[in-house]
Amino acid sequence: HAKRRDNSTCPYTQAMHHALQRRQRMTERLSVAISENQLELYFQPQVDLASGQLTGAETLCRWHDAEWGWVSPSEFIPLAEERGLIRALGDWVLEESARQLMAWRQQCAMPLPGRLSINISAQQFADPQLTHHIAHLTAGVSPSAIALELTESDFMRDPDQAVEITHTMRQAGYALSIDDFGTGYSSLSYLRRFAADALKIDISFVREMLDNRHDRTIVQTIIAMAQALEMKTVAEGVETHEQANLLAEMGCNEAQGYWFGRPLPADDFAAAWLNK
Ligand code: C2E
Ligand code: CA
Ligand code: CA
Ligand code: CA
Repeated sequence: HAKRRDNSTCPYTQAMHHALQRRQRMTERLSVAISENQLELYFQPQVDLASGQLTGAETLCRWHDAEWGWVSPSEFIPLAEERGLIRALGDWVLEESARQLMAWRQQCAMPLPGRLSINISAQQFADPQLTHHIAHLTAGVSPSAIALELTESDFMRDPDQAVEITHTMRQAGYALSIDDFGTGYSSLSYLRRFAADALKIDISFVREMLDNRHDRTIVQTIIAMAQALEMKTVAEGVETHEQANLLAEMGCNEAQGYWFGRPLPADDFAAAWLNK
């Protein structure tokens, strides 16, 4: 047996140490970015597949750090969840989304049609006062202008509580979408009880749909299921004309993706989509 090396020289331990250090520093910098208003919202169009008309937009959070440049939400959102920053971040996103909706109303020839979709994380969803809290943070904007997106796995963490909260949200006038649908194993019986308006077909199925017969079947099945339960379907990550056509043929209602438009800063979004 080789003698165990000192921790400080073991490359594996060193790499772990650096990763931990980066996460710790990132937590500190993210906390500052939230409180000092350094985050930004981008907006991605959602369109009706049959007519090509704009039906709304999704709010996506962006963070540009002076030292690291753009940090991906797939890195900082899970970190915020893990380190207790997601409520502060989520509150900022809700307030800023409302402020932006009101600003567009004043500045643009055409106000945003339909609803602005806002992502809600599991920890926000755990707050029994969430609906009131959202109404408070978005005061001035009608709930009918907002859709809340929750992932399928967030719903399934505590399905009975989810059933209750989703009904409260719907009663208050918010629309509700189940995000990343197809990846979280929700049972059909719960799916019927959640008061959701839309299923968002996960990007992974859309990506492979044209080449992979199984993924195509999954997409078709999700659409059929949504129709049976009187929910609409929104496909994510549509990057090509072929994907858009096939989805339209399959009866998918709406789509989002680079083929229709990338997420854009508020002013660029308004110039491209609201001032026509
Ligand atoms: P998501 O909610 O599933 O958002 C869709 C992601 O797909 C976004 O990534 C979007 O930029 C990307 N996307 C859109 N169209 C296409 C396409 O055609 N092709 C490909 N490959 N990707 C496309 P993004 O902006 O990096 O966000 C990643 C995730 O971070 C989001 O996934 C969401 O879970 C989370 N997130 C972003 N903003 C917020 C926020 O304000 N609050 C919370 N709680 N989560 C957020
Ligand atoms: Ca989403
Ligand atoms: Ca998604
Ligand atoms: Ca996702």
